[in-house]
Amino acid sequence: MLTLEEAADFHGHLGPFLTIGYLAGEIAREVLKPEGIHDLRAIVNVPLKTPFSCIIDGVQCSSGCTLGKLNIEVKDSEQPFIVFESRDGRRVELQVKGEVVEKCLKLDMEEAVRWLLSLKREDIFEVSTQLG
Ligand SMILES: [Zn+2]
Repeated sequence: MLTLEEAADFHGHLGPFLTIGYLAGEIAREVLKPEGIHDLRAIVNVPLKTPFSCIIDGVQCSSGCTLGKLNIEVKDSEQPFIVFESRDGRRVELQVKGEVVEKCLKLDMEEAVRWLLSLKREDIFEVSTQLG
């Protein structure tokens, strides 16, 4: 997987929504521990406009769910909500907290990224896991 810096190179800039997507994919890999490159599938529900859609690139870089492997699906949604499924049916759902989205839109980009990276993950996402 790519580092966040490499993800920024891929995406073109380091922004808060790229970072949010990147962190979501990291959490999914930690929780679901995929072994093969096709073990994980992502469904990224986001408003289909920038900067929200930058989340999609972050998810691809950290989770390995990519457009080219057809294991990522993108859906238009009012609030960013990212779902990861493993092949055996386990699932992690990450709802980006509304106040986090709002603050990311207010701060300048560098500040927003620094702020996000200083937070605990549970302060960014409402996480729900189904491991059974
Ligand atoms: Zn971006």
